[in-house]
Amino acid sequence: MDLLAAGSPREVIGKLAKHLGCSPTSREVAEYLDEHDELRHLRQQFLFPKVGELPQSDLSLVDGSEECIYLAGNSLGLQPKNAKKYIDEELEKWATIGVHGHLMGSRPWAWAENNLEDLMAKIVGAKPEEVALMNGLTVNLHLLMLAFYQPTAKRHKVLLEDKAFPSDHYAMESQIRLRGFDPSTSMLLLKPRPGEDTLRTEDIVSTIEREGQSIAVVMLSGVQYYTGQLFNMEAITKAGQAQGCYVGFDCAHAVGNADLKLHDWGVDFACWCTYKYMNSGAGGLAGAYIHEKHTNTVKPVLLGWWGHNLKTRFQMTNEMDLQPGVSGYRLSNQPFLLVCPLQASLEIFNQTTMKDLRKKSILLTGYLEFLLKHYYTKDASDPERPCVHIITPGNPMERGCQLSLSFSLPIRAVFKELEKRGVACDMREPNVLRVAPIPLYNSFSDVHRFITVLGSALAASKGVQHN
Ligand SMILES: *Cc1c(COP(=O)(O)O)cnc(C)c1O
Repeated sequence: MDLLAAGSPREVIGKLAKHLGCSPTSREVAEYLDEHDELRHLRQQFLFPKVGELPQSDLSLVDGSEECIYLAGNSLGLQPKNAKKYIDEELEKWATIGVHGHLMGSRPWAWAENNLEDLMAKIVGAKPEEVALMNGLTVNLHLLMLAFYQPTAKRHKVLLEDKAFPSDHYAMESQIRLRGFDPSTSMLLLKPRPGEDTLRTEDIVSTIEREGQSIAVVMLSGVQYYTGQLFNMEAITKAGQAQGCYVGFDCAHAVGNADLKLHDWGVDFACWCTYKYMNSGAGGLAGAYIHEKHTNTVKPVLLGWWGHNLKTRFQMTNEMDLQPGVSGYRLSNQPFLLVCPLQASLEIFNQTTMKDLRKKSILLTGYLEFLLKHYYTKDASDPERPCVHIITPGNPMERGCQLSLSFSLPIRAVFKELEKRGVACDMREPNVLRVAPIPLYNSFSDVHRFITVLGSALAASKGVQHN
């Protein structure tokens, strides 16, 4: 469709409004975009909570039978319809054949996760043998750091974001202590410039150039959980490696959100969870990646039987035949119940590509941004009008689908009013509302509904403030 092909989201929306003979803020624009959305069928493969089922809904304000406005997939992805079916199949198998389930059925438990790694690898832009599904995210981060972080008196620092996700911060702190170094001198924290919300690539790169000889590992997120900033992983990897550092990324908020090319970018290692954009359910099986160039050089520090060559694993010889690369980092046999929902989600991803998802995502988030700015920009003639500050970078190349918003009103009050009206989004201290339209299952109408509800929520929270 030509109308949708050309230009920035703002231009597309403008052209469309003209074509339809309506205002760019009209619901018709959203409906048109949904009708022409080539990925719209994927929504049918997920379970959407109903407004009336959400605990904070106020049914005097909204119709409980409607689907909720789910914009929290960055925190917990929706349930794929097949998740339950696959779990039921495995429970049935366990009930009927017991121990034989290890080797039988469509998901033999002894290598069930291996069947998913091809699909997972596609999503992060890696070779299948560079990816392992195992453990939780923070566990994988520790396993990878144990191997890659080999500090010396000269080169002992870890570079990370000042406001990294707390788990990553604690992990780095404890890794540094474990090696006998002091976090106050070995943790190097990147802060945005005064008055700015996000980090500039040029500042990250110049810090690496300045401090690089003392940095052992550069460990940043791919997409920052709080600001929604998508880092230039390729440039950061290049800068870090030029200084002799290993470069790793926590892709918790990048996987299934940004079009990752971990292999081509030469990223040394990465890890991610799968319950956010990957819809595997809380505590789902996490991912780890190690570039093939390290296959025979960077060895796992901790060993378990699942790191042993599958062909001879069950001969129980106590002689380790370590699988090459990231596969050797496996420790335990996999929880088959966790394989099921992740498989259901990966099969949906496999019906499209990250390139196409990203294309929709840029328009979908651009549409949200357009409407927010339209209604909530500072207006000198109307000082009472609430206004929004979007912390997330305006350039679509520097963000995923999430926008992080703060308002001229207290965020907690706004959040409460949104929840009463059937919106699921997420509030993060100190002052941010995170709103994530997910291209896999959110529609343009979801975004339009959100903006309408936001209007009432802001009006109501103004009331709250004055009372
Ligand atoms: C979600 C998230 C985590 C959570 O860690 P778990 O080990 O999965 O509990 C850690 N780090 C980042 C950056 C995250 O976004």
